[in-house]
Amino acid sequence: MNCRVNIDTYRCNSCETCVVICPEVFRMNSALEKAESASDTVACSEALDRAAAMCPEKCIEIEPA
Ligand code: SF4
Repeated sequence: MNCRVNIDTYRCNSCETCVVICPEVFRMNSALEKAESASDTVACSEALDRAAAMCPEKCIEIEPA
């Protein structure tokens, strides 16, 4: 199953928690210094859910794609 990942970059505080928990999906955009998803649609996973749950700003939204 695929998931769509939306990151509210305005609220992202660049802590990199999502990158540490789920590096398959998240990376830092070096120009913006904000998190971004490797692509709009990714494979759903437990790590992806955990990254969204652990984001201190709660700015990661995951929905079925
Ligand atoms: S965990 Fe949340 S606040 Fe931290 S870098 Fe990722 S999206 Fe930004």
